[in-house]
Amino acid sequence: MLNIWVVAPTCLPLVLRRCHTCASERFRTSGKFRVNAHHKLIDAWLLALCTACGETTKLTVLERMHVRSVRPELLDRLHDNDPGLAAELLQDPVVRRRNRIALDWDNAWRLDTGGPDHLDREVIDVSVRFAARIPVRPVRLIAEGCGLARAEVERLITDGRLVAAVRLSGKLSGDFTFTLKR
Ligand SMILES: [Zn+2]
Repeated sequence: MLNIWVVAPTCLPLVLRRCHTCASERFRTSGKFRVNAHHKLIDAWLLALCTACGETTKLTVLERMHVRSVRPELLDRLHDNDPGLAAELLQDPVVRRRNRIALDWDNAWRLDTGGPDHLDREVIDVSVRFAARIPVRPVRLIAEGCGLARAEVERLITDGRLVAAVRLSGKLSGDFTFTLKR
């Protein structure tokens, strides 16, 4: 039987960018936008505050876009400070590249295993699904989900009793499946 585990965000990730006022490199966004219309051109930014000194930074969402080329639905969401929009934009690689930011997902996600019932079985097949592209270490996920120490998980991999079609060392941010044989 295939078990489904879900990696899901619990809040917005921190934004990694150097603060010009202090030495911090982390900004927290509450999902607020600033929209500026000048003649027929629109700029829009996602606002974030330095976690150390509170300085505001602006992440460019729209840059001098002609009002008619912006989808009305997007404009509404920007004006409404739509909480889901900030999450979508931060996960967009184009937005991240344009603003030269990376994300810190520590403490911003959780693993839902649907309960521990399947952990007693001799062979466990698990499909791990990502509700957002959150980079996590599979070793850490499997340790947490199975209630094992990370060293034990690493030993199971070495012994060939924990197998997957993907590399389990390093980080992953997309769906994968693994099999654990006790
Ligand atoms: Zn600062």
